[in-house]
Amino acid sequence: MYSVQSVAVTPIQKRGRKEYKKYGPSKTKRILPNSTKASKRSQHLLRVRVLMQLGGQCESCGIKDMRVLHIDHIKNNGAQERREVGRHHSMLKRVLSNPFDYQILCANCHEIKHTQNME
Ligand SMILES: [Zn+2]
Repeated sequence: MYSVQSVAVTPIQKRGRKEYKKYGPSKTKRILPNSTKASKRSQHLLRVRVLMQLGGQCESCGIKDMRVLHIDHIKNNGAQERREVGRHHSMLKRVLSNPFDYQILCANCHEIKHTQNME
C-alpha cells in the first residue's frame, strides 16, 4: 500500500534466517512518511465533514461518537459502489454530492441492519 521506512538500523534487523525463524520479524520502530500522514489527515477531515453533513449521529440510536459511526448506503448498494469508486476519498466526495443516498449508523446498528437483511 504505502512504503514504510525504518527509523534506525539495529543489529536485530541484520540477523539471519535462523534467528528470524526463532524470534520472528524485527520489532524495531517504524514510522510513516510525512506524505502518508498528510493524506491520512485530509482523509480524516473529509470523513468528519461528511459525518457532520449527514447529521453527526446514528439515525437509529442517536450515538454521537465519531469513532463508531459508519456511513450507510440507504439502498444497500454499498458493495457495488465500492467496486465502482473504491473505498476512500472518492467515496466520501460522492457522499457529499449525493447526501440523500446515505445515512449514518453506528457500528452496532449497521451490523444489525445488514444481519436483518440477510434473514
Ligand atoms: Zn446506533
